Formats: sequence, structure tokens, C-alpha cells
Amino acid sequence: MKTYRKVLEINIPTRRGYLNITNKVDDAILNSGIKEGLCLVNAMNITSSVFINDNESGLHRDFERWLEKLAPEKPYNQYDHNGYEDNADAHLKRTIMGREVVVAITNGKLDFGTWEQIFYGEFDGKRTKRVLIKIIGE
Ligand code: ZN
Repeated sequence: MKTYRKVLEINIPTRRGYLNITNKVDDAILNSGIKEGLCLVNAMNITSSVFINDNESGLHRDFERWLEKLAPEKPYNQYDHNGYEDNADAHLKRTIMGREVVVAITNGKLDFGTWEQIFYGEFDGKRTKRVLIKIIGE
């Protein structure tokens, strides 16, 4: 069995935003030389997410509105976590949007369902964060 590890560095210039990282995961699979296996992609930060969904900008605005209803950013003093920090909402948004995805690799490619793409979700940006790609297989 072969293994491959790659860390992406991502800096979203706004507090919240989404980035399609599917091409970067495709590149990692190509570089790994692995044709059959599993690919894990996870956010290495507790205020950002990796998730799979549709590459459609209306849906991404819907995520933003939905998450702001569930865990509004402001007022900051509504959260026990805020004091030294102001990012309690970002921790909650990360929890609901998820930490990681695992996708099968078949014939050297991501074995996606219809319209599936891999996204990085940022909930407390304006700084560099990391995403881990780990691939195992042969
Ligand atoms: Zn925090």
C-alpha cells in the first residue's frame, strides 16, 4: 500500500467564504500515483470546514444565510466563548458544516456522485489556515 500526504495553505481575505478545492485534490491524487484507494481531506483548524456539495453560487449564499440564522456572528456577547476571542459563531458553523470528507479513488480519479465537488468553508478568515490531504491505496 502507498501513502501520500499534502498540506494546502489557504488564506480567505474575508471572515467567511467558500473555496472549491476539487482541482487541488485532483492534483494530489495525480502526484500520489494511487489508482485505487481512499482520499481524506480535512480542515486543520477548528473554525473552518471541508465539505462536499454543489458548485452553485446561489447555494453558497443559502449556506451563509442558514448558518447566520443558526449561529449569528453578532452580537458577540451572546456567546460564552467570546471574551478574548470573537469567533464563537465560527466554531459552531464549523461543527455543523463538518471537519472532513473521505472520497473513494477509482481508476485514479475521485469517485464522485452527481455534481459533487469538495469545498473549503471559512468562518473566521483573514489568516492562513491549513487543509490536510491524505491518500492511501495502490
Ligand atoms: Zn475561538
